[in-house]
Amino acid sequence: MLEGKTAIVTGASRGIGRAIALELGKKGTYVVVNYNGSSEAAQETADAIQAAGGQAETYQCNVADYEACEKLINDVIGRRGRIDILVNNAGITRDNLLMRMSEEDFDAVLSTNLKGAFHTMRLVSRYMLKQRSGRIINMASVVGVAGNAGQANYAASKAGVIGMTKSAAKELASRGITVNAVAPGFIETDMTGKLGSKVREQAAAQIPMGGFGKPEDVAKAVGFLASDDAGYITGQVLHVDGGMVM
Ligand code: NAP
Repeated sequence: MLEGKTAIVTGASRGIGRAIALELGKKGTYVVVNYNGSSEAAQETADAIQAAGGQAETYQCNVADYEACEKLINDVIGRRGRIDILVNNAGITRDNLLMRMSEEDFDAVLSTNLKGAFHTMRLVSRYMLKQRSGRIINMASVVGVAGNAGQANYAASKAGVIGMTKSAAKELASRGITVNAVAPGFIETDMTGKLGSKVREQAAAQIPMGGFGKPEDVAKAVGFLASDDAGYITGQVLHVDGGMVM
């Protein structure tokens, strides 16, 4: 259990982030449910945590904006005094073939998925270093390991997240802070809901376990990495993908 701990989960209004927020809330963590535009969905996530007996608040912040992240971290530290768990989950896709990919779509994906995680990690690490404890969990993707046609921007961002995770793990390990990544395969969320039925069939055919995963499958892995039981695990990429990439 994680009673008395404070967690920030970015992109927790929907999908995988929502499931992570619920899982951490269930374990007794005070959860800051971050979102960018979906205030009602974020409130619904916080309400669900409270209905299950947990504690939560919502917080609007575009993770691509460094100053907004600075305000988020300072506000949470000001009110809670500490941040024990940071889950960098916020992410977007802007898919296209390389030849047709606009610079704007490349930059947008890198800014949210990679720089967003850099912003919060940079800001939080200072407090975790002082605490001499902390858990940072970054959402990568199997696409960051194996690549995917039509997702050069997204794959670059997720490969970047993996490299950044390992570097931070080396920097922070001696102060009791672990930094790991989780690499989901295809998970049923709004993000994969955009895929056409043919692409879904082709994707499912590549998964040894035969189908898409659920947000809760990823949330359980994050819950474990956030726990005391995972105290000797750092710099790792845990695949939650039904065996898709091995
Ligand atoms: P999703 O259903 O599209 O939800 C994305 C979440 O990120 C939303 O809560 C959204 O908030 C938030 N977000 C987006 N841009 C943001 C920003 N600039 N600042 C703050 N929050 C922002 O996505 P998902 O499928 O749950 O994916 C979650 C993470 O898992 C992403 O990092 C994704 O790359 C990764 N992932 C997903 C899959 C999959 O199959 N679904 C596979 C591998 C990896 P708003 O609602 O407020 O916009």
